[in-house]
Amino acid sequence: MIRFDGVTKRYPDGTVAVDDLTLEIPSGQITVFVGPSGCGKTTSLRMINRMIEPTAGTISIDGEDIRKKDASDLRRGIGYVIQHAGLFPHRTIIDNIATVPYLLGWDKKKARATALELMERVGLDTKMAKRYPFQLSGGQQQRVGVARALAADPPVMLMDEPFSAVDPIVRKSLQDEFLRLQSEVRKTIAFVTHDIDEAVKLGHRIAVFQVGGVLAQQATPDELLTN
Ligand code: ADP
Ligand code: ADP
Repeated sequence: MIRFDGVTKRYPDGTVAVDDLTLEIPSGQITVFVGPSGCGKTTSLRMINRMIEPTAGTISIDGEDIRKKDASDLRRGIGYVIQHAGLFPHRTIIDNIATVPYLLGWDKKKARATALELMERVGLDTKMAKRYPFQLSGGQQQRVGVARALAADPPVMLMDEPFSAVDPIVRKSLQDEFLRLQSEVRKTIAFVTHDIDEAVKLGHRIAVFQVGGVLAQQATPDELLTN
């Protein structure tokens, strides 16, 4: 479980992006952060892997304050997926997916075998393994992004609008396949979106943010739909 305890982030220019956030993200579930642009969703997400440090408050994972860990050790256990997959343009698809295993010094054969297996799991034809990112569609690149984040089998995944930049039909299939994959891998997921329909479809828990970085409501999809 990931826990935010009274977490505030004030940027150097005085902007309060997140205001006294207390929130639990249960293990093995998808918790969606939803709300309008600028309400502190991305800032909250990036504090979990210490890309951003809080001004006040504590974040813990399974009871351990994340500041007690070295930031790179912490990140090894946290997959990260962003809106425009952020793939390395000069590396093939298979090498993009195996980025973290290579960094961890895995045997190359094992790293590549894992990458190929992940391609299948995220619905990519393994014939694309030797292609470069520019040769893939946006939806395919996002699949590579998800596979890359999963490669070292991290217990936690941070996903920042991963399906928002593709057209509605591709988005629906990415969402459906993501739900199917999650039912197998059961990661602890914090998922950011501004789309309430996506939040209701994907979230076990939904944290509704409002402008000013305040958590307005925490609910299950059913509770949200009946209110
Ligand atoms: P969201 O993800 O919900 O769109 P963000 O977390 O990106 O929100 O931003 C929350 C608020 O913090 C916004 O007002 C944004 O302009 C501001 N903000 C984000 N990053 C910075 C920064 N580096 N410096 C100053 N303000 C920032
Ligand atoms: P953006 O272009 O959305 O602002 P960022 O600057 O947040 O992207 O991140 C740049 C890159 O840093 C990401 O594409 C990602 O490859 C890398 N990165 C940051 N944190 C992590 C992490 N925890 N695990 C893996 N890669 C990370």
